[in-house]
Amino acid sequence: MCHALLESPTFFALLLDIDEELAEAARAGGCPACGGVLHLADYPRKPRGCPVPWREAFSRRRSFCCRG
Ligand SMILES: [Zn+2]
Repeated sequence: MCHALLESPTFFALLLDIDEELAEAARAGGCPACGGVLHLADYPRKPRGCPVPWREAFSRRRSFCCRG
């Protein structure tokens, strides 16, 4: 991958956008196992190869769980 792209703030903002969109689509679909309502259950992750100013934004992984 191009180094200039990895330095670009737009690139990381786009990644976060995609993350949010996928998370929202998954949440809206409900639990694939039981069809129950999904609740936020984010968990921490350690971003690697990520510029320091972006680390905080990438330090959570979106996750959901139902009551099942
Ligand atoms: Zn479930």
